[in-house]
Amino acid sequence: MKKPDVSFDSIPGSAISKSTLKICLKCAFDVFTKQLKLTPRTAYSELKKHVPEEADFTGTATSRPHFFDERGLDHCPYCNGAKRWFASFHAVRIDSIASFEKERKKLWAALKKLPDRFVLWAPERTKMQIFSEWLERLNRSLSFETDNWLLDAAVSYIKRAAPSNDWNNILADGVRRVQLSRQVEDNSRFENGWLYVSPALYGDVLIVQHLLSRSHQHGGRTFEGRLTFQELMRRLRRIGYLEAKRIDADEPYEAFEQAIAALVDSGPDAVYYAVDRKDYLEKLKSIYEKKRER
Ligand SMILES: [Zn+2]
Repeated sequence: MKKPDVSFDSIPGSAISKSTLKICLKCAFDVFTKQLKLTPRTAYSELKKHVPEEADFTGTATSRPHFFDERGLDHCPYCNGAKRWFASFHAVRIDSIASFEKERKKLWAALKKLPDRFVLWAPERTKMQIFSEWLERLNRSLSFETDNWLLDAAVSYIKRAAPSNDWNNILADGVRRVQLSRQVEDNSRFENGWLYVSPALYGDVLIVQHLLSRSHQHGGRTFEGRLTFQELMRRLRRIGYLEAKRIDADEPYEAFEQAIAALVDSGPDAVYYAVDRKDYLEKLKSIYEKKRER
C-alpha cells in the first residue's frame, strides 16, 4: 500500500507560502566530475546531501545550478542542458503564531521522521521582518493594473490577522466587498458576499493598502480612495480606529508608528521552513543510475 503523502493541511493557508526552486543536475554533476575531477559515485554521494540556501528560494541570491522556472523552460539557463536534467525543491514557509503552534510542532515531529527528504530551518526573524517579508510577497502576488488588488490585499490581511482553516469554508463563495461595521463581534462577520469588519480591522486594512500602493504609481490608494498620509490619519481617527487600538499620540507620524507597532506585534513571531527534497533525490538517483550504465 502506498503511504499517504505528508500533508500541511493542519496549518492555516494564510500562514503558508510556497516556492519551487529548480536545479539543473547536469550543471550540478559537472561541478564535481569535470571541475573537481571526482568520480560520478563520489559526486552522487555529495549531491545527495545538497540543500539550497534560503536566499536561493527567496530569489535574493539564486545562483547556478539553481533557477526559477515560471515560464516552463526547455533548457537550462546556464548550460543549455535539456529539461530532463531538471529537478525541483519545494519549500514551504510557515509564519507561525501561538494559535496554531501546537499543530506546527506536531507536523514538524512528523517531518523529522523523514530526515533525508525534509530539511527543516528556523531562521531568526524579528516580528517586523516577518511583517515586511509578508508585505513584499503580497506586493509581488498582486496585479496593480486594476483596483481588484484592494479587495485581494484586504482579504489576505484579514485572514492573516486571524489565521484559521475555517476561512476556506466561510469564504468559499468569494468576497465581493469588505465593509466597515461597528456592530461586528470578534472583528469580522461574513454574510452574502460581504465581509463586515470592525474599525480596528478596517483601519489595519487601510494601512496595509496604503503601504502596498506607496511603491506604485498613483500611490496611497485604499478602499477610501486615494489618500495622502495626513488624509489617511484623519480617516483612521474618524472611523474610530485610533480609539479602538488605544493609540493616544496626537502627532500623525507618531500615531502611525504606534499603529504599525501594534499591527506587527499582533502578527506571527517565528518563521519555519520545510524543504522537500523528494523530487530532487528521485531524479538525482535516476540520473546517476543512467550515468553508471554507460
Ligand atoms: Zn545546467
